[in-house]
Amino acid sequence: MTPLQSSGQVGKAIAPFGELALKPDIRPDVLFRLTGKLQSTLELPLLIEIFFKNIQSSVSVDGISYRVRDRQIVVCQGRTSAHSVNYELSNHGDKLGELVFFRSSRFREYELANIEGLLSTLLHPLRNALLYREALDASFRDPLTGAGNRVALDRTLDREIELSRRHAQQLSLLMLDLDKFKSINDQHGHSSGDAVLKETVQAITDCMRQTDLCFRYGGEEFLVLLSNASQADALIVADRIRETISKLLIPATKTTTMTATASIGCASLTASDSRQSLIHRADLALYTAKNQGRNRVIGEAALSQGLIEEKRQ
Ligand code: GH3
Ligand code: MG
Ligand code: MG
Repeated sequence: MTPLQSSGQVGKAIAPFGELALKPDIRPDVLFRLTGKLQSTLELPLLIEIFFKNIQSSVSVDGISYRVRDRQIVVCQGRTSAHSVNYELSNHGDKLGELVFFRSSRFREYELANIEGLLSTLLHPLRNALLYREALDASFRDPLTGAGNRVALDRTLDREIELSRRHAQQLSLLMLDLDKFKSINDQHGHSSGDAVLKETVQAITDCMRQTDLCFRYGGEEFLVLLSNASQADALIVADRIRETISKLLIPATKTTTMTATASIGCASLTASDSRQSLIHRADLALYTAKNQGRNRVIGEAALSQGLIEEKRQ
């Protein structure tokens, strides 16, 4: 644990635990009870909440903020204040993120010693909660591409539709299918095909906003959920994705590269849409994009003009 205390604009390094003049002054039974409470959950937000509430009798803190930067985890409790002390947490070489304690008055050295004593009870439960979250995340991801899987899609789409309606926001859906992907596999082999799938998801992710979501719908088929996006917005994103994919040069061997193109159908949520009807219209638009020659984007306008062909079963 490496603490760094700052007040206002000024940051000041504090000696790590062990070099502090003072040792923690917390009764063993307090630490024992806290350990028990922390071990009662694997849910990260609840763990941080339990920690925050139960340390107050040993050291008064206005708020804490826990963050793991590269995993986009942020959990806050209480409020921020003028003074803060910041710990990089690690356990046997495992980086466990950063925990900041906030208070309106500066932390005294004996309080830092107590905070560090309390933190020692958090490390194991925190590691377990992070592993649990990692396993949970993995169960919602396609292992090859890292895109959301069908389970994640089913859970997310209903929620996003409900949120869009509640906040009177638009929601658009892209259905993307790689063109003639079978011939990529045939020509370059299945593992090269896998590389194309990974690059495709990377290209999609590069083109979308952080709030947008990408799911693997089937073999070489992906759904992109664009929150707060009108049909016009969605068509722009879709064409950016299409163009980006068409420009990829993906290594096949040390000396050769592969290219790929994608067809994209686009549908936007209407008042009467269900999850199934929204997906169905994106699928019809995709089907039309395929029939019109591939490597193109087809949207709702084609549907209203009767240009979208009914898909044969
Ligand atoms: P179209 O332009 O009409 O979409 O033609 P297509 O060849 O892309 O479509 P088709 O459905 O005929 O072929 C899809 C291929 O995708 C067949 C299947 O072997 C391949 N595929 C599905 N999942 C994977 C995967 O995980 N890895 C690889 N490498 N190939 C996959
Ligand atoms: Mg295809
Ligand atoms: Mg397909």
